[in-house]
Amino acid sequence: LADAVTTAATCDLILTGARVVSVVPSKALYWPGSVAIRDGVILAVGPSQDVDERFAAARHVRCDGDILMPGFVNAHLHAGMSLLKGYPCDYALSERLKHVVWPFMAAMDEQATGVAVRAACAESISAGITTFADMFPFVAATAHAVRDTGLRARLAPYLMTESDELARAVRDVSSLGCPRVTAAVGVQSLYGASVSALEQAADIARSEKLPVHIHVAETRAEFDQGMGVRAVARRGLMPKGSILAHAIHVDAEEIAQIAQRGAGVAHNPSANAKLGTGIANISAYRSVGIPVGLGSDSVAANDRLDLFEEMRMAVFLSRLRRDEATPLSIWDAIEMATLGGAQVLGLDQTIGSLEPGKAADLIRIRLGAPHLEPLLDNDREQVAAHIVFAARPADVSMVMVDGDVLLDSSVFTKLDAAMVMQAATAAAARVLGRAGLA
Ligand SMILES: [Zn+2]
Repeated sequence: LADAVTTAATCDLILTGARVVSVVPSKALYWPGSVAIRDGVILAVGPSQDVDERFAAARHVRCDGDILMPGFVNAHLHAGMSLLKGYPCDYALSERLKHVVWPFMAAMDEQATGVAVRAACAESISAGITTFADMFPFVAATAHAVRDTGLRARLAPYLMTESDELARAVRDVSSLGCPRVTAAVGVQSLYGASVSALEQAADIARSEKLPVHIHVAETRAEFDQGMGVRAVARRGLMPKGSILAHAIHVDAEEIAQIAQRGAGVAHNPSANAKLGTGIANISAYRSVGIPVGLGSDSVAANDRLDLFEEMRMAVFLSRLRRDEATPLSIWDAIEMATLGGAQVLGLDQTIGSLEPGKAADLIRIRLGAPHLEPLLDNDREQVAAHIVFAARPADVSMVMVDGDVLLDSSVFTKLDAAMVMQAATAAAARVLGRAGLA
């Protein structure tokens, strides 16, 4: 039993009688287990008989053997692109960007971005995602929508040409005054941004001491044309804590460079598979201590904001790579979807595991449905396997960020989902029409 206080104490809430997957210590399962929470912070995690006795709680919630685990961290997203969901498109990456994504973005505005981000937040909450790293223009609109929905996010613009967008984004996020929303420097990629935009991004990252969120080595062509990880580092776009999205095509020297500079990798297995860009060698990153998180990428490259799917795909693809010395395990997948993502976002002191002193960002996964049976008593390997291979977003029944309940008995507490979806459909019709895509 780990705990933050030494004397008997009161707390706001004890979630009791759960299968608690705390992520730290690694592979731990407390069953029956409890989590005690006060002022949005976890006070204790451990066996129910210990935690329940030591705290006088204002409220007890019995979890009936359901799973409690940290909320998922989506390490790479473009929430503002949510209006592109289901857009029929079988182009490869470069044609997709040129003919769909960039014309769509040129037709976007503040209002449509706010609508798109609310839709992405609704899908994220319903799937147990409590934090995400985003890259999209109109950071102010994104920040307001994230704050209103109660999620946690690190927001970056999608810089392609030199402008005041970056400086404005940093200012807008700090003036929001919402501790759950933080900023990063966002650059689309080395091939997508102008030289002056790349220089501007490196300057601001240096002066503001911010990490960079950038697409890199997503395609073999980037590596072959000298626009891979090595070039990102050379241009000053890989300071400590930076988020490298995809990082599929790298050599050994580049892996060492990422480790040495303290950057992290956002692995997007479904998006990589949908676009056919390759299978990243994730074990190679993890074996040298590089933090790896799981990302959905935008719905245009994936169609689902669903880290259950990404965990499953990450394990499957790792096993399909013939050169993986140690393919990913189910526990590796759970760790990447939670603590690994938190490390990639630089938030692992606050979130990513259920530990005393961390924020109460957690989810409840309802058991008992036919697709989650059988489940033997006290079998932690089977619980982990169910989380990675069998569970679905619809199994998430409760979502909490900083102790605030955003989803209760599978019902949104802050969002009017019907209104969000209706607004998204209207905005999609308007923006796609303006972009000449509909
Ligand atoms: Zn992306």
